[in-house]
Amino acid sequence: MRLKSLTISGFKSFADKTTIKFKPGMTGVVGPNGSGKSNITEAIRWVLGEQSAKSLRGSRMPDIIFAGSEDRAPLNRAAVEMTFDNADHYLKTDYAEVTIKRVLFRNGKSQYELNGQDCRLRDITNLFLDTGLGQDSFSVLSQGQVESVFNSKPEDRRTIIEQVAGVSKFKKQKQQAETQ
Ligand code: ATP
Ligand code: MG
Repeated sequence: MRLKSLTISGFKSFADKTTIKFKPGMTGVVGPNGSGKSNITEAIRWVLGEQSAKSLRGSRMPDIIFAGSEDRAPLNRAAVEMTFDNADHYLKTDYAEVTIKRVLFRNGKSQYELNGQDCRLRDITNLFLDTGLGQDSFSVLSQGQVESVFNSKPEDRRTIIEQVAGVSKFKKQKQQAETQ
């Protein structure tokens, strides 16, 4: 599975529809302070189902919708779309390419789509469960989190490494088996 592209429109500082294509290998995003680098990682977390407005640096979810600038009126809708190459069927679906989409309107109405079909948040969450890319996984680390990893106690740091390595789900299964 590989991230192919991300399309953002009306999300935070991205008023205009913007598509970022990810080629094989490593991608770096550079830009001056306040140019929207963190907003890109937040768009990724958001489309994967992030439910906490605070962790997206807002107080309510509609805060993620473009709020206007000196020369532009605020928008009423934010949409983020992310496409994966799933030729290896790492995501458990028959599709060789998977596109997820989340839309939010200023009145609070929201919408999720899987390959162009309306779906529930749960369908997206289930698709990414145990892939290391879910909304709570450590595949997206924000600025503050990097520090907290370095400052945490060794036991807590080990827990994080185990989650990344995918060991924690086996530990959980072992604990469950031992108590049965
Ligand atoms: P740094 O290098 O300092 O980490 P960055 O490139 O990560 O900066 P971001 O934090 O992604 O920058 O972007 C912050 C910008 O996004 C600010 O200019 C802020 O005004 C703008 N922004 C955030 N939310 C909205 C919104 N709802 N509408 C319009 N602009 C927004
Ligand atoms: Mg930043």
